[in-house]
Formats: sequence, C-alpha cells, structure tokens
Amino acid sequence: MTRYAPSPTGFMHIGGLYQALVAKKMANQTDGVFFVRIEDTDQKREIENGVTDIINSLKNYGIEPDEGMQDEENSVGEYGPYKQSMRKEIYQAYAKDLLAKGLAYPCFCTPEDLEQIRSNQEKAKERTGYFGKWTKCRNMPLEMAYDKIKNGESYIIRLKSPGNPDKKIKHKDAIKGSVDMPENDQDIVIIKSDGLPTYHFAHAIDDHLMGTNLVIRGDEWLPSVPLHLQLFYVLGFKTPKYAHIAPLMKTEDGGKRKLSKRKDPEAAVSFYKEEGIPKQSVKEYLMNIANSNFEMWRKQNPEKALEEFVFDLKKMGVSRSAF
Ligand code: GLU
Repeated sequence: MTRYAPSPTGFMHIGGLYQALVAKKMANQTDGVFFVRIEDTDQKREIENGVTDIINSLKNYGIEPDEGMQDEENSVGEYGPYKQSMRKEIYQAYAKDLLAKGLAYPCFCTPEDLEQIRSNQEKAKERTGYFGKWTKCRNMPLEMAYDKIKNGESYIIRLKSPGNPDKKIKHKDAIKGSVDMPENDQDIVIIKSDGLPTYHFAHAIDDHLMGTNLVIRGDEWLPSVPLHLQLFYVLGFKTPKYAHIAPLMKTEDGGKRKLSKRKDPEAAVSFYKEEGIPKQSVKEYLMNIANSNFEMWRKQNPEKALEEFVFDLKKMGVSRSAF
C-alpha cells in the first residue's frame, strides 16, 4: 500500500509525476494499492482547482489512483476522507489522547517568546529550536494551562519529545540504504492555532489509518525521519517503510541544480503537451531516470509494455538524478 501525497499549491511538477509513477509502479508490481491523499493543511498556499489539476494530470498519464481524491470534494475508497482539511477531528482526537497521556502539551508562547528563546540559544552557542530546558510551556502545570485556555488565550499543541540527540536512530531506507541520525528532541507543533495539524503529525496518522506500508516521497523529508519515527512511536503505530527519492537535477553552466518551478518551463507537466511530446515518451524517459537498466531492457524488448519492466527501488539514484 503506497501513496502520492501532494499539496495543491501550484501547477503539477514533473518531479511529482515522477514520484507518482514510481509509487504506482511499486503498487502494481506487488499487487498493492496506490492512493492519492491531498495534504492541504497550509491553506494560505492553496490554489483554486489544485486537486482537480493533480488528479487530471495523473489520469492523463495513465497513473490512475486506486483510491483517493477524484476532484476537489469527491473520493473513492474506504479510508477517506483523503483530503487532510476534511480530517481535522481525527487529528484532534489523537492530539487529545496524547495530551491525556502527557505526551503532548498546550503551548502559549508568542512570536516574541520564541524570538527570545532563539536569541538566548544563539548567545549560548546552542542549537536553536523549542526543546528541553529552553521550553517555556513544557512543564506548565495542567491547571494553569487550563485557566489560560478558559481565558481565551491562543495556543498550539506541541509534542513532548521523549528523544535524546546523544542517541542515534538507525534508519533503513528503501532507496538510501542505512542512514544513522540523532534522535529528535524538538517539541514540534502538532496542532496549529487554526486547529489544523502540521504535515508531520497528519502524515503519521493518515499513513497509519490508511494502511500505508511503504512511504515513497521526496528526499527533502529525509532529515525529518527521526521525528517521524518518534511520532509513530508515541502514537503507538507500527512504522511504515520509507523510500526517499532524490530530486531531478538539471545541468547548467557545468554545474547541477534542482529543476526549478520558477526558472524551468520543462518543470511543468503541461509543458510536454504544449511541446507535442507524447505521454508515453515522457513516461519512458522518467522510468529511464528511475532505473538506469531500463534503457537496456527497452532495447531488448522494444515491443513490451512499460508495465512489464521490473522496477527496483534499490536501483534508484541515491543522491540525484540527471534530468
Ligand atoms: N505533502 C508533502 C509534499 O508535498 C508530501 C510528503 C509525503 O509524501 O509524505 O512534499
């Protein structure tokens, strides 16, 4: 069971199509399910018809989701809603449970408080963030917090992180291999002041409830793995396997840089249609980037359908892929 979990914040990026293609291929190859979940907890960044645009782009390339959103409002599948803004009460129920167990707490810090903490940390040449001895609200007596809430003070909910950064977690990534990272000790925000969850909290709950056992996503999330494993742990969930995909890189002036939404027209999926490039060619090209042995397979099997190629996550580029 795997998924593609985009935020509807702009045009469909070729890197998104690449991730979805890989996820769909993995699901097909293992008799699994591929679903699409919309991660729209940052509502300021949302664009109109963003969901419909994503779904239509996927379908247009034959990357049909088995479950998930179909357009802005409707979905198919048994584990919905598949749009995070429609699941607010679910996240809040889990946050409440963590609060009751002392694994989370309300935080009343203002932007000025946070600035003060940061400046103290910088003066002390310490790591910055909201953790351990630097926190103001972590050990606030419950009655005091309760009074503040009753008085209408604005608050967020933070994780009471049980981590110790002197210890290492051993992460085995399906693409990157073994990666050791320090445990997380940041008391990250799990519920924001608007009542919506952060991505970190929401993805753990959704991937658990939706039965995801393989998370395929961009490697900008690799540094968050210690936090994510910790969230699964405090929530009492079994952790899924993670596969972190390296970004598509473009060569420019002899150097390499990430394919950019702003600078590169070829970053938009719509570009290929405008240029008259057949969909099948785009898919073949992406598969060739995903697994370099695809080229040889294609030469030996010119008549075969792309679906017959046996794709292997372990053969994906670890650090970058030349586009
Ligand atoms: N919404 C996240 C993104 O667009 C998804 C990360 C994930 O797949 O878990 O980057």
